[in-house]
Amino acid sequence: MKINKNKSALKVQAGVPQPEAINPNIHTLKRSVTRYPLNYYTEGILSGKRAVLSQAITLVESTLQSDQQLAQDIIEACLPYSGNSIRIGITGVPGVGKSTFIESLGLMQVEKYEKKLAVLAIDPSSARSKGSILGDKTRMEQLATHPNAFVRPSPSAGSLGGVAQKTRESIILCEAAGYDLIFVETVGVGQSETEVHSMVDFFLLLMLAGAGDELQGIKRGIMEMADAIIINKADGDNLLNAEIAKQAYANALHLFPLPPSGWEPKTAICSAITTAGLNEVWKMISDYLSFAKNHGYFEKKRKEQTVLTLKASIESKLHQLFFSNQGLKEMNVELEKHIISNQLSPYQAAEKLMRVFIENLQKKI
Ligand code: GDP
Repeated sequence: MKINKNKSALKVQAGVPQPEAINPNIHTLKRSVTRYPLNYYTEGILSGKRAVLSQAITLVESTLQSDQQLAQDIIEACLPYSGNSIRIGITGVPGVGKSTFIESLGLMQVEKYEKKLAVLAIDPSSARSKGSILGDKTRMEQLATHPNAFVRPSPSAGSLGGVAQKTRESIILCEAAGYDLIFVETVGVGQSETEVHSMVDFFLLLMLAGAGDELQGIKRGIMEMADAIIINKADGDNLLNAEIAKQAYANALHLFPLPPSGWEPKTAICSAITTAGLNEVWKMISDYLSFAKNHGYFEKKRKEQTVLTLKASIESKLHQLFFSNQGLKEMNVELEKHIISNQLSPYQAAEKLMRVFIENLQKKI
C-alpha cells in the first residue's frame, strides 16, 4: 500500500521509515467542534480558567472561516484587560536548551515569586514542513502541570493569519486571564525572530559554548536584536568554555551600535539543568525593565508595537481574504504551473490574481 505521509497522524524522526496510517481515511473524518457563546469565553478567561483560555486560543488559531468573527470578538473583549504582563522572547537553535531553560526559569518564577506564567511557542518549521521542531517531544513537564503556569505549543501549521499574528493575539488572551509573565519561545533559525522581537519587552538569545555563530545558525541580525546573550550548559567540563564564549560574545556585542533602548546588551552564563546562574539572568532582565521604564522606553516600545500590530493585522486579514477565496486558490495553483513552465513570470501571475481579487471585492461592495 502506498503511504501518504501527510495523512498519517504519526510523525517519525528522519531516517526512520514512516509507518502506515492505521486508518488511511482518517483525514476525511471531521472533528466535531463545540462552540459556545461569547460570554462563556470572556467570563472564563477573565476568571482565569485555563481550560477556557485554551479553548479560546484554539478558536483564535482556527482556520475555519466560521470561527473568525467569534475569535475577533473574544480578542476585542479581552483587549481592555491586556498589557499588564512582562513579555520575554527566548530564542536559540534546536538543542541549545530552550525548553529546559524555560522550565527552570519558569518554575523559579511561579514558585519563588508566585508569578503566573504563560509560555507560548512559535515554530517556523511547522508552516514549512508541516512537522514541528518544538512539538514532537515532551516539553516542560513540570511547568505544564503547575497550577500557575500555562504552556501552549505552537499554532498549527498553515494558520490563515500567520503564526506570529496568532501568538500576538494569544498574548492578549493570556494577559486577560491574569498571566503577568509571558515567555514567547521561537527557534532561532527563521524569520520569526523579527516578529517575536516586535511583540516582547525583552529578547533573550540562548547560545552554546564552543560552536561558532555560523555553526549555530544564528544570523548576525538576530544577535543584533538581543537584549542579552546567555551561554547555556555552563556546567561540568563546559564551564570554562562557557566563560570564554561569554567574553567573546561580549566583545562582539561591543561592535554593534547601541540599540534604540540605550541599554547595552549583556552576556551571562547559566546551566538550565543545575539552575546555576539563573538568578543572575533574572536580575539582568529586572535591571533592563527598570532601566527601560525609567527612561520611558518601555512605554514607547509598547506603543510602537501597537502600531506594528495594526500593520500585521491588516496584512493578515488581506492574506486571509485572498487565500480563503476558493476561486483564487484554484487560479493560484494553475498559475504556479505556468510559472514553472516559464509561460508566465511570477509578477504577471500576481498581477492577474490581484485583478481578480479586486474585481471580486468590488462586486461585494
Ligand atoms: P531545545 O531544543 O532548545 O528546547 O533544547 P532542550 O531544552 O530540549 O535541550 C536539549 C538537550 O540539552 C537536552 O538533552 C537537555 O537535557 C540538554 N540541556 C539543556 N540545558 C542544559 C544544561 O544547562 N546543561 C546540560 N549539560 N545540558 C542541558
